[in-house]
Amino acid sequence: MILTLITHDRGYLEETTLQALTFARSLSADLGVPLHAVWIGEDDIDERVAGHGPSVIHHIGHAGLDDYGPATWGSALAQLIESTSPAAVVAVGSERGNEVMAHVGAITGLPMVSNVREVTTGESWKIVRTRWGGSLLEEASLDAPVKLLTVTEHAVEAVALANTATVETAHFSPDLSEHDLLTKVVDRVITSEGITLATAPVVVSGGRGVGSPDGFAPLEELAGLLGGVVGCSRVVTNNGWRPHSDQVGQTGTVVAPDVYIACGISGAIQHWVGMMASKTIIAINTDAEAPMVTKADYAVLGDLSEVVPAIVGELKSRRGG
Ligand SMILES: Cc1cc2nc3c(=O)[nH]c(=O)nc-3n(C[C@H](O)[C@H](O)[C@H](O)COP(=O)(O)OP(=O)(O)OC[C@H]3O[C@@H](n4cnc5c(N)ncnc54)[C@H](O)[C@@H]3O)c2cc1C
Repeated sequence: MILTLITHDRGYLEETTLQALTFARSLSADLGVPLHAVWIGEDDIDERVAGHGPSVIHHIGHAGLDDYGPATWGSALAQLIESTSPAAVVAVGSERGNEVMAHVGAITGLPMVSNVREVTTGESWKIVRTRWGGSLLEEASLDAPVKLLTVTEHAVEAVALANTATVETAHFSPDLSEHDLLTKVVDRVITSEGITLATAPVVVSGGRGVGSPDGFAPLEELAGLLGGVVGCSRVVTNNGWRPHSDQVGQTGTVVAPDVYIACGISGAIQHWVGMMASKTIIAINTDAEAPMVTKADYAVLGDLSEVVPAIVGELKSRRGG
């Protein structure tokens, strides 16, 4: 059996967790073994999980699991692994997925392979995984009685099944000690509401070429018109023009919107790995040789302080002002 950890925050799915379930489904088909999923926390399992093909969803419930705790989740999952003996456990390679699986690895003594893109099963599993923020592919082999994997975000598309069979729910009560419960969420501060950088369908991102904090006003307007949000490069956050929560890239947020509009961003590898999974990339730049321009689907060569307001004006006039 292949077990997939469903990562969520108080019942709200991490968008990329269903990609891990799709990845695990093809792994289970390849091995000819059942696909199971595991949901930790309150019993409000998102119905999309069932639509992605598990025959069993294990629900791990406990008073100490009403909110996220990395050690608590890790301990609970390790106990389920002990009880069900899966061939592999798969989670998405998000911060949460990697964190929980690292705890599972430490508790069980099993090797954990993060950010996997491809698996070839066999006596020993051949793994291709991303390293260095996505700029390097590593080939590795994995030998373990239970394989622990996380799947690189956006490496596969989440595909629901057209027809789903009945899904069984199996309840599991872990034995959690005081030690397991040491790290827990005690407070939450909401810093942004509505669509976020990680989930927005459109990201209008600005780099050094924007020139100043005020230079972001037209980008904000464009993002608003397109139903998106503003992102930025690290130069921008380093300069204090925007908060770090807006930064896209290796040391910021990884995004995969339908449209990514890079305004005055050169396309350094550390930025590129954070947005390369975008479906359509549009560059606005004065430099025809900038990597962002040469790699984009579309490019506008020009000064963004003229190009962005022109796009905003055109959109407004087409929408009747
Ligand atoms: C360990 C490490 C981690 C990093 N992590 C990240 C990360 O997460 N995210 C990230 O973004 N960077 C990251 N960086 C930094 C990265 O290497 C680059 O320095 C950074 O992305 C460059 O930002 P930029 O494109 O805004 O600036 P620049 O590279 O200076 O590019 C500015 C671009 O704007 C264009 N331009 C200038 N004026 C205009 C104008 N008026 N109109 C149109 N175009 C104009 C220029 O032609 C140029 O292409 C990291 C670096 C390291 C070493």
